[in-house]
Amino acid sequence: KLDLAGKLAQKLGAPVKDETVHAVDQVDLTVRKGEVVGLVGESGCGKSTLGRMVAGIMPASDGDILWHGKRLDSLQGAEARQAKLQTQMIFQDPYASLNPRMKVADIVGEAPLVHGLTKRGEWDSYVDNQLRRAGLDPSFKRRYPHQFSGGQRQRIGIARALAVQPEFIVCDEAVAALDVSIQAQILNLFMDLRRELDLTYLFISHDLGVVEHLSDRVVIMYLGRVVEEASAEEVFVRANHPYTQALLAEVPRIEARKKSFAGIKGEIPSPLNPPSGCHFHPRCPHAFDRCKVEKPALKEIAPGHKSRCHLNDRVA
Ligand code: SF4
Ligand code: MG
Repeated sequence: KLDLAGKLAQKLGAPVKDETVHAVDQVDLTVRKGEVVGLVGESGCGKSTLGRMVAGIMPASDGDILWHGKRLDSLQGAEARQAKLQTQMIFQDPYASLNPRMKVADIVGEAPLVHGLTKRGEWDSYVDNQLRRAGLDPSFKRRYPHQFSGGQRQRIGIARALAVQPEFIVCDEAVAALDVSIQAQILNLFMDLRRELDLTYLFISHDLGVVEHLSDRVVIMYLGRVVEEASAEEVFVRANHPYTQALLAEVPRIEARKKSFAGIKGEIPSPLNPPSGCHFHPRCPHAFDRCKVEKPALKEIAPGHKSRCHLNDRVA
């Protein structure tokens, strides 16, 4: 039996090794129970890789993932199954993960039946409840995934995740493929479910604007490294890292949140061959000589606020 009142800690540290390509490099990420952490960066920055490792569906080549203080890869039997069920992942394209030959009722209700979370006699009402929670009409359960819109399919994916009674949900670009108005509905659903079910989220997005309203804490990644981490409020009011500042400048304040990164100078360098020193230096408006040769450390610049930039050493 797990101590659900205990802290949910996901920790990951991947030390750099020569001749190894690291999608994720020395990342140390903690998600506390009940917290919503936004993980933000451009495509290729390693955020999806990190999300998959944290969700336990991809092994870390080096480093540890801790779940309630225990190494995820050391869990066995019932505890391993519980860890797996209690962490669910929701992807950008629910259609790809919904079996087109299965009815919605089976998509949502198969796992809870297999894992003994419901019984045959109660199965129908169990499935209905999950669909209602996700904002779907229970009568939809006799239909197939192709009969639904993108937003409804995402709701089916959410109902399926809820059906196994998770405590931690990793959302990877969960609203990126949806229209802006539907995005808002799904984001509101995530927040309602958080309150209702006491859920913890790692919310991965390329769009700082998407995570703004729902995150307690925001972690910014650039080419496999965390470059800034702070409370959401702090990030939006006192962003320190030039990359975060550039991302913020791209967040449309009102609506139409497309083309997020068009304004940052230059291309995203290849993660296979990242720039020397500070990975961001070729695109940084404040770069100076040291930035090309020396990797900045992630340093605490205020309580709970970390940034990885040499400029912070200049301020006495
Ligand atoms: Fe820019 Fe230098 Fe700071 Fe990197 S270390 S973000 S290049 S100022
Ligand atoms: Mg991705």
